Amino acid sequence: MKKRIKKILDPDFKKQIDKILSDFKLSLYDLHDVATRDDKTGLYNNRFFMNIFEIEIDKAWRNKQKLSLVVIDIDFLKKFNDTYGHLVGDEILLELAVTLQTVLRKYDILARFGGEEFFVLLPETGIKLAKRVSERLRTSLLKNKKMNKYEVTISLGVTEYKDKDTMERMIKRADKALYVSKKEGRNMVSVL
Ligand code: GH3
Ligand code: MG
Ligand code: MG
Repeated sequence: MKKRIKKILDPDFKKQIDKILSDFKLSLYDLHDVATRDDKTGLYNNRFFMNIFEIEIDKAWRNKQKLSLVVIDIDFLKKFNDTYGHLVGDEILLELAVTLQTVLRKYDILARFGGEEFFVLLPETGIKLAKRVSERLRTSLLKNKKMNKYEVTISLGVTEYKDKDTMERMIKRADKALYVSKKEGRNMVSVL
């Protein structure tokens, strides 16, 4: 017993315990990242986004707050991959993630929803402001050196929360708006 108490009081032993605890904390952060982030871009993944979306839609309904959703799709990425290779395509995905993030506020949620599609959730934001933010997202690429070099553009679809809306309905509307942007020539924002 005496030996144990001595060990507990031993500064070296305390250091060891501190290290174990700090490593444990680090691995918890890693675990959280693996569960919530997309490893190609570091953005939130689809699953985490849907969890937040559910909470935000509930807040919008409960507190009568505004909420907007933006769907973003890279234009002609298949052709880009065919021309420059998949790895350069991956670099573009990462650069796009960083560029888009600089336009957004701290509490906006940017996620890679899959493939070359990104979602942005804009809490407490109505359609007028959401459209302005979307235009800023679109033009942020034009000001980026790498995006300019490869002439990368994005098409966007925007929608706002309507009373008793569901996630599915909002995503469907934003997707429809995105489809309009694609059909009318790409590199543009459409609202529905
Ligand atoms: P559109 O303007 O109509 O969106 O044309 P698109 O070529 O971008 O769209 P399409 O749906 O025909 O093809 C999507 C392309 O996105 C094909 C696929 O290889 C590419 N893509 C999806 N995920 C990744 C990825 O992680 N890395 C790279 N480099 N390309 C990806
Ligand atoms: Mg697509
Ligand atoms: Mg595309």
